[in-house]
Formats: sequence, C-alpha cells, structure tokens
Amino acid sequence: MSPAASPPPQLRRITRGSLARFAYQSDAPSSTKKSNTTPQVADIEDAVSSSVTKTTTATATTSRKRKRAVVSSSTTRESKPSPVKKEESEEEEEDKIAPTPNRRARKPARKIVDPDTQTTTVAPPSDWEEMYELVKAMRLTGPAKDAAVDTMGCERLALPTASPRDQRLHTLVALMLSSQTKDTTNAVAMRRLQTELPPHAPDAPPGLNLENLLAVDAAKLNELIWVVGFHNNKTKYLKQAAAILRDAWAGDIPDTIAGLTSLPGVGPKMAHLCLSAAWGRTEGIGVDVHVHRITNLWGWQRPASKTPEATRLALQAWLPRDRWREINWLLVGFGQKVCLPVGRRCGECELGLRGLCKAADRGKVLQGRKVREEETASLKVERVKADGDDDEDGLVIKEEYIKREEEDVEALDMVMNEPKAEVGLKEENSPEPQPPARPSRKRRG
Ligand code: SF4
Repeated sequence: MSPAASPPPQLRRITRGSLARFAYQSDAPSSTKKSNTTPQVADIEDAVSSSVTKTTTATATTSRKRKRAVVSSSTTRESKPSPVKKEESEEEEEDKIAPTPNRRARKPARKIVDPDTQTTTVAPPSDWEEMYELVKAMRLTGPAKDAAVDTMGCERLALPTASPRDQRLHTLVALMLSSQTKDTTNAVAMRRLQTELPPHAPDAPPGLNLENLLAVDAAKLNELIWVVGFHNNKTKYLKQAAAILRDAWAGDIPDTIAGLTSLPGVGPKMAHLCLSAAWGRTEGIGVDVHVHRITNLWGWQRPASKTPEATRLALQAWLPRDRWREINWLLVGFGQKVCLPVGRRCGECELGLRGLCKAADRGKVLQGRKVREEETASLKVERVKADGDDDEDGLVIKEEYIKREEEDVEALDMVMNEPKAEVGLKEENSPEPQPPARPSRKRRG
C-alpha cells in the first residue's frame, strides 16, 4: 500500500525580525538562544570605533599615525584625552610642515633699568632693524613699490606752482581731508579745490588759497569735497580753521605742534606729518592706522597699544630719530600694497618668507616659499643653458635638466610604442594612423 500522500511542507514566512534574531543568536551563548527578549544590536559607529580601539591598543607602535590613533582611542574608551600629548603632536606636525628658516625668540620693545644708575631705557624689539630694511627694500623695488601714498599722499598734493605759503595750506588741507579717506579719493577732492574753488574777488584767480577758502560758501565747499568721508564735518572744520589762520597766524599755518593741534579737526598724527612736510621739521612720528596696525601685528608693542597716539609714544621711545619721518611713508605704502588690512599678501612678503613676522599667514607663506623655490630652480636652469656655467651647482642642475629631458623622451617612446598593437588592428581600416598625443608632464608624476 502506498503511503498516504503527505501534505506539502508549509513554507515558513521569513521576516526581518526573525533574521535579526538569527544573526544575534549565532553569536550569543547557547543559554540565551531561546530567550524571547529583543536582541540589542550595536550601532554601526560603535562597532567601528570599538574595532579601531581594539586594533590600535593592541598594535601601538612608534609611528605618528598610530600614536594619534592611540590618543583618539583614549577619548572613546577612557575619561579624557591628554591635552599635552595632543598639543605636542600638533606642534611637531606644524614644525614638519612649515620649517621656519630663522626661528628666533622675538621680544617686544621693553624697559630696562640700569641697576647702577637706576636709569630706565627702552630696548628695541628683536630683529627690528632687519625687518625695517627688508620692508624698505620691498617699498623701493619689491612688491610694495608704487603705492598710492607715493604719488597721492598728503605730502605730495601741494601744487608745485603755488606760492610756499599756499603750498603749506595745501598740505594742511590735504591732511584734514585725509582722515577715513583713501589717498586716491583724497587726491580727487584736492584737485577739485585747487582748480574749482571760486575766486574771492572778480579779478582773483580760482583755486586753493586762504582768501578763497574764507570767502567760499560752506555749501559750495561741501559740494567740492563731497567724495571724502565725513565731508560735512570737514567742511565745518575747514571754515573754522581758515578763520583761525587769518586771525591768529597771520594767514599762514602754525609752525608748532601745539599750534597745529589747536586747529579744529587736527590731531597729533596730522600735526606731526604737517610739521614735517610743510616746515621740514620732524618732532614726532605720524602714526596713522597702517603704522598702528602693522607695528602691533609684528608685536613691537606688548601689550598691544590701543590707540595710534599710544603707538606713537611707544615707537618714539626706542626708534632712532632719523627714521621718524620715513617710517610713515614706509608702513603706509607697505600697508597699501602688501600687508593689507584685508587679504594680506604674506606669500610675497619677505618678513613672512624669512620667518620674521609672528602674524604671518602660514598657508600663504608655505605657498610663497614653494613658488620662490620653483622660480629659483627655473632661473638656475636658464642660467646654465644660457651661459654654460660650470660651477658645481650649475652642473648638478644641468644634469637634472638633461635627465628630465631624457625622461620626457622615454615617456614619449613608451606611449608611441605601446599602443602599436592596437593601432595595428585598425591599420586595415585607417591607412593613416595618427600618432598618439604627447603625454602630459603631470601624469609622469
Ligand atoms: S608676513 Fe603677512 S602679516 Fe606679516 S608683515 Fe608680511 S604681509 Fe603683514
């Protein structure tokens, strides 16, 4: 008798839950296999980090990467990372990335008391002279030459054809207009005054002189100088100052700092610059925003000076007097061309490249050094090619140059010969196969 036909086996429904339980139970102890509790599956990130922890703890070696991994693993497993360890490691890293050619301790200007005489002197900041000379070289022939201040600074805006008295007035007016205004804008306003200020009498010439300034209507004056910042206030100050010059200074400008600062809208910076430019006497440093900002960036004052006037006093305490006039021209142009208030060009700045500026942008400096190295290398190669120089350096570079040329030829041959088989397959259809393109230098690495 044939066995009774057994019912077809029932297919078990597979759900995601059952699969998950299966996966869990395979790893679990046998006693828990029948447990009905929901298995707690570890989060994927926990799993990854725990495996990293296990691996790194077990295989701690002296390599940098592994050292770092140990530090990070301690953050996951242990209480807190060791800040000292991390700082050291970052410092090491920085040193490796950016070797600074001349790393020296930099000191700001500081007071020194002589123990014998108890007299106090101010020692200048470290490396100031080297920095000063480098900036000067950049101003004369480097990236900071041809700054706006060189042609449109207040000292340059007096009309050479005007009388000496009027030229002095021009310098004073240019300085009074210059605050919060770019040199280029200031030059436009000055040119308008020098050509369009109406004459005070029918037969008098137009232009900037005390008589015309006294006679002009305030609204007209305001219109002529509207391009400069705070022109309403400056119009008021100019009219008041003109009256003071007429009444107290015999129609000329004061020849003392006290006299100049007594004029409305004239502060110590303008007074010192005016005295230097108009009267040829330098009694102090003209500290504008550039001089104030840059000397503080360099750390010449510590703690950093809060105002331009504080910077002036700090600088005058140690800077040799023969630089007092020059430093304004030096740093204003440097601030206009290289050490800009926004977007400093540290990669082109000698101070940054030589590790003399504590505020240098490290990334830009690295990039700048790289560019300079490349430029120097290509210059040497060119020199060798042109002169056939046979000094030791030249020979090495020449060798390198020839080697590169040979590599180029080899690489080209490889590409020319390698695809011959492929080209051969197509020869039937294309009787004039085109040679493959020359490989790019990039791909050669
Ligand atoms: S390195 Fe940069 S921050 Fe320093 S002086 Fe040069 S441009 Fe200014």
